Amino acid sequence: MGHPERCDWGGCSRSVVTTFGEKALCLDHFCNRCYEILDAMEAGKRLNPAGSASPLLTKRQVQVADECARKALDVCMSKINLNNLERARLLDILLWCGDVINALARRNGQPENERDEKRKSTDQRVQQRS
Ligand SMILES: [Zn+2]
Repeated sequence: MGHPERCDWGGCSRSVVTTFGEKALCLDHFCNRCYEILDAMEAGKRLNPAGSASPLLTKRQVQVADECARKALDVCMSKINLNNLERARLLDILLWCGDVINALARRNGQPENERDEKRKSTDQRVQQRS
């Protein structure tokens, strides 16, 4: 066990900003961890083409994405001084988590063809404009 206020990431000695997945992490490693998780979810989505019967994201994955978003928001709202890059990363993580969670909600809430209908009407709007 390291110092309680130091990041749990191996070899890192920066201050902890949040805990995530039972690990206390500094800002950099929190962001890295979130990106890793979200990347893996994106990769999983690509492996399963739309229309496949199996759910692309498990409930557990959505919980993790939800935790990711909450922790990122916590850090944003805390008194930690963030530079512009750090703000941008946290916002990026928040929005990405939202995408992941909403994608699953759409899949669960609507039949596949309804999503296609939506896409079609968007295409039509785009065509009308051009
Ligand atoms: Zn760290």
